[in-house]
Amino acid sequence: RELTDLNALADEYLRLAYHGLRAKDKAFNATLKTEFDTSLGEISMIPQDIGRVLLNLFTNAFYAVQQRQKKGEDAGYQPTVTISTRCANEEAVVTVSDNGTGIPEAVVQKIFQPFFTTKPTGEGTGLGLSLAYDIVTKGHGGTLEVASKEGEGTTFTITLPA
Ligand code: ADP
Ligand code: MG
Repeated sequence: RELTDLNALADEYLRLAYHGLRAKDKAFNATLKTEFDTSLGEISMIPQDIGRVLLNLFTNAFYAVQQRQKKGEDAGYQPTVTISTRCANEEAVVTVSDNGTGIPEAVVQKIFQPFFTTKPTGEGTGLGLSLAYDIVTKGHGGTLEVASKEGEGTTFTITLPA
């Protein structure tokens, strides 16, 4: 475990995920929003593991906005991925939000299961969120929750004991 600047870690992985996608799809453009609580201080964590969690959440978020954009149903649609951090009740709270496809109600209960994916073969393993869940809960004593609305977007909320 290392005392880590969570804001800097999140910012780094957000940009990594975005540039990784842009390298494959030059036409893809998204707005990145960061709402960092600068009073957060350093959090004790395994930074490589929380980095993986964030990378997976960002990768999923960019995929979801890209899919919605490809559908081309909404004129003036601007793909947006937002990361926010705040400190509340001795906990660091991180949210990753997107205005992508959203997740149907019948699907949302399955997304943390290993190997569950709605992506075509080769594009998803279905392991990202199950791994993220274990890292956050078992590995760090935190929580990982999702709120989503089909056609509007998705927010994942991570809490870590601070
Ligand atoms: P994978 O990305 O390999 O499919 P994950 O475990 O990361 O596996 O995600 C499982 C499934 O959860 C995805 O296939 C998708 O259906 C859904 N999902 C996850 N994040 C999002 C998101 N931000 N927006 C819409 N659907 C999502
Ligand atoms: Mg994934």
